[in-house]
Amino acid sequence: MNVSVVLFTADLRLYDHPALRAALDGSEQVVPLFVRDPAVDALGFAAPNRLAFLADCLEDLDRGLRARGGRLVVRSGDVVDEVCRVVAEADADEVHMAADVSAYAHRREALLRRALEERGRRLHVHDTVTGVVPPGAVTPAARDHFAVFTPYFGHWSRQHPRDVLGAPRVVRVPEAVGSQGLGSRRELTGLSPGLARGGEREGRERLTAWLRDGVAGYEDRHDDLAGDATSRLSPHLHFGTLSPVELVHRARRAGGPGADAFVRQLAWRDFHRQVLAARPDASGTDYRTRHDHWRSPREARSDIEAWKQGRTGYPVVDAAMRQLLHEGWMHNRGRLLVASFLTKTLYVDWRVGARHFLDLLVDGDVANNQLNWQWTAGTGTDTRPNRVLNPLAQARRFDPDGAYVHRWVPELAGLDAPAVHEPWRLRGARRAAYDAYPDPVVDLSEGLARFKRARGRA
Ligand code: FAD
Repeated sequence: MNVSVVLFTADLRLYDHPALRAALDGSEQVVPLFVRDPAVDALGFAAPNRLAFLADCLEDLDRGLRARGGRLVVRSGDVVDEVCRVVAEADADEVHMAADVSAYAHRREALLRRALEERGRRLHVHDTVTGVVPPGAVTPAARDHFAVFTPYFGHWSRQHPRDVLGAPRVVRVPEAVGSQGLGSRRELTGLSPGLARGGEREGRERLTAWLRDGVAGYEDRHDDLAGDATSRLSPHLHFGTLSPVELVHRARRAGGPGADAFVRQLAWRDFHRQVLAARPDASGTDYRTRHDHWRSPREARSDIEAWKQGRTGYPVVDAAMRQLLHEGWMHNRGRLLVASFLTKTLYVDWRVGARHFLDLLVDGDVANNQLNWQWTAGTGTDTRPNRVLNPLAQARRFDPDGAYVHRWVPELAGLDAPAVHEPWRLRGARRAAYDAYPDPVVDLSEGLARFKRARGRA
């Protein structure tokens, strides 16, 4: 009997799964395997919100496989050891998995390839996780990656993504291979109360609803903080319950300026992935140093704490930070303005903010998180590295009537715009009525002056 193993990583789906399709085409039986790797926890990626979403995804993947006559095999331990163990138990000839971009993923792939070759087995790596256009598929002359988004997007748009694959009808799994329990989000503590549900079925329903009701208005409304008019598909893209290739095909079929703007955002995802693939160190070190001497954690401690808790005294910043605490997710406009506030107005190292985001974000992703933080801090790929987003101007523009602030900062209930965005201007009894809300941790012009001095632009 001819057997293959499919190692699921960040591609927890049955639809449009090239590695699964190749394994099924080449073998009579397939072991769909997921390995809980303690090395990932040790890297600091085992945040409760993501573990909960992952548990949903594994449950749903198992359900989908059982509906096709199969099941998911789950193991815990070093990924190379566990794959080799399962290969031996199933007497499998080959292993299929997706390519990925992080330094960890590169190391995992190289070690697994060597271990399998030593046992006379083969590893096949497919471009499933990497994106619509894999890293390295388009490059500028004489460089290994694009450092600026706009020219990258020009090349990206001219590529033709592969066709979308359907889900398999039948999956036969050898009986001899045992599995551990799947785990469940109910076993976890420390979750954000408004955390989204995971799983392929959930993702596909959300995608269909988005293409039907949401995408047409995306171009006009994607920055409207209270409107919440983005797809919220990011955790599904992170865990691979949805395929980015399928998203692009379906959005292009939907057509219109909203779909075009949405597809452009998906290209940002690929852009960051090709940067990280070429510069894996950029997950922790400046992509382009600005010779920053960030404020020390001790000096900035109370500012950092206020920022994390959503008590900076700037309502739009606090609303976004509280959305993060409550949902494990934040609107993109919120992410931009709180990251600018931390790194530029408070002049705190981007790694402090990126770490806090990774502790909470359900879509927390090395490429997207670290490189967006660097973009905002001006150490990344932004062509205007010293731009500073003024939280007051951002609030007036993207939350004009204060609805977003009202949703997340109940202490300010009853205050209309513009006062809701600048409660520190209230005087006397009116100010006293809102004294549960803190005064600003920093004066904006002082923060700006400090940043300009630090970057040698004063
Ligand atoms: P939509 O607006 O509906 O966009 C669709 C998809 O396009 C997203 O799901 C995402 O996969 C991709 N996308 C959109 N904007 C970006 C972008 N700027 N960079 C890369 N891909 C993008 N995104 C993450 O997926 N994980 C992260 O850890 C993450 N951290 C971020 C940290 C900071 C400081 C900033 C400024 C942005 C971060 N982003 C991250 C990018 C972006 O904010 C989220 O992808 C987006 O808000 C998710 O919501 P959505 O699915 O509704 O997005």
